[in-house]
Amino acid sequence: MSVLLTNAVSLDGPAGVARRGTLRAGGPGGGSVEWIDGAEESVRDGEVLDCHGGLVVPAFGCGHHHAYSALARGMPAPPRVPRGFAEILELVWWRLDRVLDPAMIEASALVTAIACARAGVTFVIDHHSSPGAVRGSLETITAAFDRVGVRHLLCIELSDRDGESVRDAGLAETAAYLESGRPALVGLHASFTVGDTLLERAVALARRSGTGVHLHVAEDPVDQERTLERHGVRVVERLHRAGVLDLPGTILAHCLHLNDAERRLVADSPAWVVQNTESNQANAVGRFDARGLGDRIMLGTDGMHSDMIRAARAAYLAGQAVDAPSPEAILGRLRAVDRYAAGRGLRPAGDDLVVLDYDPPTPVDGGNWPAHLLYGVTSCQVRHVVVSGRVVVRDGVVATVDEAAVMAFAREQAERLWERLRRGDV
Ligand SMILES: [Zn+2]
Repeated sequence: MSVLLTNAVSLDGPAGVARRGTLRAGGPGGGSVEWIDGAEESVRDGEVLDCHGGLVVPAFGCGHHHAYSALARGMPAPPRVPRGFAEILELVWWRLDRVLDPAMIEASALVTAIACARAGVTFVIDHHSSPGAVRGSLETITAAFDRVGVRHLLCIELSDRDGESVRDAGLAETAAYLESGRPALVGLHASFTVGDTLLERAVALARRSGTGVHLHVAEDPVDQERTLERHGVRVVERLHRAGVLDLPGTILAHCLHLNDAERRLVADSPAWVVQNTESNQANAVGRFDARGLGDRIMLGTDGMHSDMIRAARAAYLAGQAVDAPSPEAILGRLRAVDRYAAGRGLRPAGDDLVVLDYDPPTPVDGGNWPAHLLYGVTSCQVRHVVVSGRVVVRDGVVATVDEAAVMAFAREQAERLWERLRRGDV
């Protein structure tokens, strides 16, 4: 499949100068993008999209997401106001994820994939949790993301919080998914909810499958405190000793409360860090500081939303009072997910295309694009999204599924989920 983008503006001219014309996206391999010079060119096996002078940029990717939390928006309040991060988990998220069933998981994944597509996000690294419906959960999410046309790298956040049978079911589901040949990670919730047996088994499974571990690291001081209390070491030291850091493609989400020695361990390893600014702000757990963590830092949303332009802006603004990142540094973190994907043999989101209705009041070129992105661009400007030569968003509307029908289905599932929370089924 290929798509012809007419009246397109791109910043890939000499020295990043804006160039206007017609682009062909796709072709046999799906990933190539080229300028078409002759007006006689036509696409016989694809379609023509008019960009109306819109700016064509590489699509975005999300380094840490939780599709399972998509039906939480506006949900009933917890039985009491959580005091601190551990209670936010116990009273909000662990009550919600325990009552998810396959239909709710499907609705959550569909609406997340739609939100991603509409925001120009075509690759998602997800961290799933549904302790009451483990079996088949990764297949359900895969089918939903594939239906919408958003690429994914999944895992289940395994832990010991729900006992051995849920833990073992999660390991079995992960192993079966990996054995089916699909790319995935071995997920863990966080050091403080993972015992030594599970940690060993997760590392062994990841090693056997040639993949990495994806977990939350020092999101709140409680992770350090409980890890020290139970295991006598700090979080990153524990992960280092268990072999987590050296696995290919390991992802450490958050990394807020690390000392200098832990930062050195992370920087000296091949592991990747994900910054989730708005989630950290919402939970009041601390501020991300990139100093000493190396250059493998991606951006994520931690399930709060699916808009990576917004996540980049939040990282840039919040960072000014901490490590003062430049617009170029933030764009580097936003694009790091493409380096991650390429390194894992996956197609980078950057091979896909987004057309933005962006007609700036000041000159734009490759050099000042990072500042334009952070100060002027919003996901509301996404007009078209093309993934592997397939049109996923056309004129601001998802082209692959009936959005209104999916939203109606999701609201039904949200009602069922909230009713269970109100009844206190957990
Ligand atoms: Zn998370």
